[in-house]
Amino acid sequence: MGERKVLNKYYPYDFDPSKLPRRRRPTNGQIKVRTMLPMTLRCATCGEYFGRGTKFTARKEDAAGERYLGAIQVYRFYIRCSRCGAEIAFRTDPASSGYAVESGATACREGDGGEAVAGKRGREEEGDAMAALEDRARAGKQEMDALCSCAVQAEAMAVTCRHT
Ligand SMILES: [Zn+2]
Repeated sequence: MGERKVLNKYYPYDFDPSKLPRRRRPTNGQIKVRTMLPMTLRCATCGEYFGRGTKFTARKEDAAGERYLGAIQVYRFYIRCSRCGAEIAFRTDPASSGYAVESGATACREGDGGEAVAGKRGREEEGDAMAALEDRARAGKQEMDALCSCAVQAEAMAVTCRHT
């Protein structure tokens, strides 16, 4: 077990670091990265869905000349649809702290009622924390009311069953 903890490495007496092969830089500035999809996509060519978190080996590049506020580099990712092979491109979107699909696919909203969710999130982002809290409380109360009315109905049914 001792050998797995060694901190020293053996260098032969004739070791010459200048003879090491140099790191190859890709000529087109694209590097391969193993990435996960940041959002659910639907291939525009074949209609296949790819859920958020699906792993892809993507080609990543600096989006030339695109810097958010002149400082933050925007990166672009290219993946291939695993069903039809069409190329899908998406890029980082620092303005929304997220990602934006560029070509080859459409981004899917998650869950139903996406608009309502977006609206609520919008209020939260505006800093209207109190209103957002009220929204959430109201939604919770409605849910509870629905549950209660269900329970009351079930009880009523049980009572009628017992009586008939
Ligand atoms: Zn496809």
